[in-house]
Amino acid sequence: MNNTDVEHYLALAREAARKAYCPYSGFHVGCVLLGQDGEIFKGCNIESCAYAPSICAERTAAASAIVQGVSAWKAVFVVSPTRVSPCGVCRQFLYEFAPGLHVYVGYLDASIESATSLDTTAKSYLGPITLADLLPGSDSLQQSALGHKR
Ligand SMILES: [Zn+2]
Repeated sequence: MNNTDVEHYLALAREAARKAYCPYSGFHVGCVLLGQDGEIFKGCNIESCAYAPSICAERTAAASAIVQGVSAWKAVFVVSPTRVSPCGVCRQFLYEFAPGLHVYVGYLDASIESATSLDTTAKSYLGPITLADLLPGSDSLQQSALGHKR
């Protein structure tokens, strides 16, 4: 995937982040989950005053994809104020469907990286990072849950 494509999907993720419902944290996260055939599913974080029922942008996008019958994904693009990568829960959730998923993370504010870097050729995002790299040992967990032995 070339730089222009990645920036395009990160821009779509920024649009999704504007829809975030995060009155408690104020931490807007947006996501684009890209299906194997180029389908685009957007997600944003949705918080609850009870905190535990809150859901991350990645899982809202995944839920949207699944309910629309698309469970083969090739990449996820996540933006946030501090360019965080998916949390442990989302890593496990996404791994269930797409262990080879490529993860890209960028800033919510697209100008941050270029404003702080003297290297104008530097990418404004991190990635691709494979989901398997973000979640070591996940194969054994899945096999255990399904009753398989190594
Ligand atoms: Zn998460």
